[in-house]
Amino acid sequence: MQINQDRFQEHIDSLAKIGKIGETGVCRLAHSKEDREAVDVVRIWMEEAGLETHIDGFGNLIGRLEGKDKDKPILLLGSHIDSQPYGGRFDGTAGALGAIEVVHTMKDQGITPNRTIEVICFSDEEGSRFNKGVFGVRGIIGQLEEGELERKDKNGISRLEALREFGVEPDLSQSPVYKPGDIEAFLELHIEQGPVLESQDKPVGIVSAISGPIWLTVTLEGFAGHAGSVPMNLRQDAFLGASIITKEFNELIRKEGTPNTVGTVGSVQTFPNSRNIIPEKVEFTIDLRDIDLEARTKLEKELYDIIEKTSKELNLDYSISEDTRSDPRYCADWIKDIMKEEDTKLGYGSPTLMSGPFHDALFMSYICDYGMIFVRCEKGISHNPLEYAEMEDLQKGVNLLYHTAMKIAQS
Ligand SMILES: [Zn+2]
Repeated sequence: MQINQDRFQEHIDSLAKIGKIGETGVCRLAHSKEDREAVDVVRIWMEEAGLETHIDGFGNLIGRLEGKDKDKPILLLGSHIDSQPYGGRFDGTAGALGAIEVVHTMKDQGITPNRTIEVICFSDEEGSRFNKGVFGVRGIIGQLEEGELERKDKNGISRLEALREFGVEPDLSQSPVYKPGDIEAFLELHIEQGPVLESQDKPVGIVSAISGPIWLTVTLEGFAGHAGSVPMNLRQDAFLGASIITKEFNELIRKEGTPNTVGTVGSVQTFPNSRNIIPEKVEFTIDLRDIDLEARTKLEKELYDIIEKTSKELNLDYSISEDTRSDPRYCADWIKDIMKEEDTKLGYGSPTLMSGPFHDALFMSYICDYGMIFVRCEKGISHNPLEYAEMEDLQKGVNLLYHTAMKIAQS
């Protein structure tokens, strides 16, 4: 049994026209006019697939197909359809439209599942508009924070106003919508957004876990001086400190990290940022991720040693602030087992790989078991109009999603 490839492709192509920028890009910011237009179109496709739809108080679009046994925990499928301001056609949409295609294929087969199925297009996964994302999913699981509706975009529009403009009267009292036990499994298909599947020449992958990031901001303080007059041995150069720490951190991860550890210094601010002044203060960010919590903890300790030692050697003061600390979240073994079994039947030979980026599924993992399917994307490019996935690969991914969903829905 295969999904309807033409219909799926038609949906991907049509959705890519909403908020289209350039030849291949899209801009559908959360709760925007384009986002609403997309929700309205996708809603029609949900209804054509036999789902009963509504938009909740967080802006999520949800479709429901009642199962034969109403007492069983439901199967939830989905992803997001909002995009980055300069985004691609497949991030989120592949999984959201793939989920609808799964249900539509069941309908074509005349199947009423044993278990109720819901398909969800999560609102504001990307987070670029209000500088905080995964809003919809945090809403349904009860992880919204104080002041969430008061966050403003760069035009001064609050999330509350944006949601009203979008056509939703925000109702945070609905949160949480689901409790542990309500959902048997959550399945999300997503483009990989990395180069691993391409490097292995595989169209589809089964995700083992979503890696947990630690985000730190390190501040080094030295002393400013004239670049022409202060001798080298008398300097307290904060940028030199940041450079040495960056280099040693990189070497540490390469030498002692697991194959899944990644470490990045991505943002650096130097003060006073002048060509003829010795940098007095430097602030830089560290992103450290692994699916192995123990390995990550050990590397984090060693990173602190590098910062301490370097600061001492260069006569700098330092401070470290922690911006984010998430644990890795593992996909359920029983779901991976079903995926592997179905994958073998389909003859894909899909490898298992971890996810470096987080997804809506990361948050769902706090209230239910989850599984993820990745689809190869060209050169791993994402959050970019150049993002590209072969239709054939996407269709294979959705086929695997279909067979996995069928197994769980009929159990
Ligand atoms: Zn995404």
